[in-house]
Amino acid sequence: MASMNGSPLVLRAVRAAVAASKPKGSHKCLHPGCLGTTREKKPYCSRHVHKHPYASSVIAEIAHREREINRVACDPSSARAGDGTAKELLVHLIQAETLTLKRLSRHMNLPLEIVQAYASALERAGKVTLDRSSRGRDRATLARDVEPL
Ligand SMILES: [Zn+2]
Repeated sequence: MASMNGSPLVLRAVRAAVAASKPKGSHKCLHPGCLGTTREKKPYCSRHVHKHPYASSVIAEIAHREREINRVACDPSSARAGDGTAKELLVHLIQAETLTLKRLSRHMNLPLEIVQAYASALERAGKVTLDRSSRGRDRATLARDVEPL
């Protein structure tokens, strides 16, 4: 986790989390022992923003997603239809019904191989069908009558 704290994705998520938070009246950082002051009535100073409950839950979620993706990158057959990444893929298909794997890879900001692994897992689970478009592109379609999530 410590290695992730500097990644742009995490920093962006933390900033968004803080922007969305409802600050209480305090101008002193709530982190024990910190003498820092906070801006705009935020509960934590900029050094301790990751202590914010919502920020830490977002960070945990991102860390979980990264572990999942790293696992599948090493072993594509370990992709499961119940994984968060699979659910994310389904959300994209709920919006668009059919998408090429290439496009899903762009939308999800994931390597094509990871998307392929999850698309196959979802096909085995009966949640999507995979076929090839007339232009030779692999694509995924949300299966009919499926409760996606
Ligand atoms: Zn602080």
